[in-house]
Amino acid sequence: MLKQNMKKLLLIVIAILLIITACTENNHNSSSSVNNDEDQQIVPPTNDKEESENNEEDIVSSDNQDTQQPVDLKSLKVNELGKIMVLMYHDIGEEEDIWVRTPENLRKDLKTLHEKGYRVIGMKDFIEGNIDTPPGTTPVVITFDDGTKGQFNVLGEDGEFVIDPDSAVGILDEFNRQYPEFGLKATFYVNYPTPFRQKEWVERKFEYLVENGMEIGNHCYNHENLRMDLDTKETRDAQSIQEAIGKHVKSTQEIIPNYQVDSLALPYGAGPKDAELYNYVVQGSFEGTSYHNKAILLVGSNPARPSYHKDTNMARVPRIRASEMDTQNTGLYDWLEYLDKNPGERYISDGDPNTISFPKELEDQLDKNRTGDKTIQPYE
Ligand SMILES: [Zn+2]
Repeated sequence: MLKQNMKKLLLIVIAILLIITACTENNHNSSSSVNNDEDQQIVPPTNDKEESENNEEDIVSSDNQDTQQPVDLKSLKVNELGKIMVLMYHDIGEEEDIWVRTPENLRKDLKTLHEKGYRVIGMKDFIEGNIDTPPGTTPVVITFDDGTKGQFNVLGEDGEFVIDPDSAVGILDEFNRQYPEFGLKATFYVNYPTPFRQKEWVERKFEYLVENGMEIGNHCYNHENLRMDLDTKETRDAQSIQEAIGKHVKSTQEIIPNYQVDSLALPYGAGPKDAELYNYVVQGSFEGTSYHNKAILLVGSNPARPSYHKDTNMARVPRIRASEMDTQNTGLYDWLEYLDKNPGERYISDGDPNTISFPKELEDQLDKNRTGDKTIQPYE
């Protein structure tokens, strides 16, 4: 009898304990709900006191980062006027070469970038300056030229859409599964007549890229050199330039209606010498399809700056060759080392795409005409 009563008591105690823990957990979750690492809404710090209070809160809810907290711009060394690498890849294939990266090396690049605090952003976000990587991280843009099969290969036996795990898209996908915080963003500067070289899969591949947050860019319809026709050695005129660029946009929109192709990687890194002709690389039309390239990418050889930096010319955005072969001190690993040694030159995000934060002494680097409706936040 006594034993049974004890049992009952024990059960009641356990039940009470369970209820208490459940409540605590509920409270705990609700205080840090909605937010996760990738969905950041940062309130800028107003004073030191508030910051230290919030730090305490952070310890309490340490298992789920409370993203409503202000960012300590100074201790994170936030610098949203710093350098951003726009990486340039070409083919992905079995043998490493100047314009070929092996699957293992692409994996190594992603891993290295991730470990060093880089997070990927898309070209459209780079253009708009909408950089939403978490506080303290550095954005990086990944681009691929030429639309090769090694970039996006479908194994496709029996008509099934199976992405080759050793093609760039397969590697990016897999890396994103392992490290979702890195992001899945890349822009493919393809050319025609068959982007990625598998006729039966062109449409499905384009859909896949766009559905998964990747982008399609212009590399001219037939990889034309926009300075001169390589067959005739004649300088290209306005019409020929517009055809090379506009025909690409027209073809892309036939596959994905209304898709905005708004950036271009210059084939051979060559643009018209004449400034007036260069305007047709930026804007023009072909057979009723008009285009506007908000970013025009070069081939070499140093990091870019954000679109609102006074030195940025969006009609000539430099890229860095993601390679270790004949880099002449301007390859990905050369720049990674440089930025490790010179962290003050690196773009460090405040986590909020709607604010531009930087040390006050850099203020004269900001082009205030290009900041749109973003809040400008110099700090001391
Ligand atoms: Zn090319």
